[in-house]
Amino acid sequence: MNNSKIWLSSPHMGGTEQQFVQEAFNTNWVAPLGPNVSGFEKDLENFLGNEVFVAALSSGTAALHLGLLLLDVKAGDEVICQSFTFSASANPIVYQGAIPIFVDSEPSTWNICPKALEEAILDRIAKGKKPKAIIAVHLYGMPFDVDAVLEVANKFSIPVLEDSAESLGSHFKGKMCGTFGTLAALSFNGNKIITTSSGGALVSSEEKVKEKAVFLATQARDVAPHYQHSEIGYNYRLSNISAGIGRGQMQVLNDHILKRRAMHSFYTDYFQKMDGIAVFKEPNENYYSNHWLSCIIFDVKKINKSPDELRLFLETKNIETRPLWKPMHLQPIFKKYPYYGGFVCENLFATGLCLPSGSNLTYFDKERIINAFDEFFK
Ligand SMILES: *Cc1c(COP(=O)(O)O)cnc(C)c1O
Repeated sequence: MNNSKIWLSSPHMGGTEQQFVQEAFNTNWVAPLGPNVSGFEKDLENFLGNEVFVAALSSGTAALHLGLLLLDVKAGDEVICQSFTFSASANPIVYQGAIPIFVDSEPSTWNICPKALEEAILDRIAKGKKPKAIIAVHLYGMPFDVDAVLEVANKFSIPVLEDSAESLGSHFKGKMCGTFGTLAALSFNGNKIITTSSGGALVSSEEKVKEKAVFLATQARDVAPHYQHSEIGYNYRLSNISAGIGRGQMQVLNDHILKRRAMHSFYTDYFQKMDGIAVFKEPNENYYSNHWLSCIIFDVKKINKSPDELRLFLETKNIETRPLWKPMHLQPIFKKYPYYGGFVCENLFATGLCLPSGSNLTYFDKERIINAFDEFFK
């Protein structure tokens, strides 16, 4: 029997990626600029649809860092960040010498709770400093409550930096994730819904902001025949080789979304009859998730098994799963920063599990997963 590893989320090539990469070699555009970079940006702009401008960068983390720079976040500023996320959402705040202020999630979307957000803003203002920006995340592909979060942000005139690293192709009320914030970050890391092996992008509604992002990402060179600099620059541009992979991946993005959503339906069907396990789903028809990862929650009152027992059991079957993100306010490095909210994200971390969700899982992979579940839950 084939017992090869079933991954949580692995790269899934469509077939045309190597042609774009070969073209880059043929024309010697082996550099952090070239026709694949601009072509990939155009593809993303068309996909997002909403009169946006995209700067292709070396990673999602670089996009978040440049996003904070462009929002003028400086040393000593405070930046609000969803606590329930990957550390890359929060690290760039510290790169800037700014202070992260963490906020809990809401139960329906698992993303930043609009009430706790407002409470945090009011308290920070009362303590003397208005937060400079809000980092809200569409975690696991699920859109945050865009209406409620933007209402709070607008009320206090604080810009939103949307962390859309996991949500390419998700939408809220028909509008794409990555087009709601003042700025948004995308990621094309190896485990994301499409990959350039490593890469990211910054999305803006203004062309001049994109130009500024590209300027900063290419060492902030002033216009001069020699190398002259009036600002600190970064080496954050995407390579023309990686962008070639991205152009190929854009041709299969819609197919990947449908396949990830089919994995989610597969788990929904399996757990339908099981009392005590809930598959994380969209709260209502305003939300459309790409279901980057399918996640389940154990109701510990109804089921006498833990997510960690399931994870370890599946490991013996060579099937990868992972606990949900450990909240940032519980991380050793971030513990010292303020936190607003209750125990929503802590409980999610304690009771949840991410299941294999790749667009490349086969019929036989699914059989193996079902057989392992049957054996575990019998
Ligand atoms: C992947 C990810 C990032 C970082 O993207 P990289 O391209 O890996 O730097 C940021 N935020 C979230 C929520 C992510 O999942």
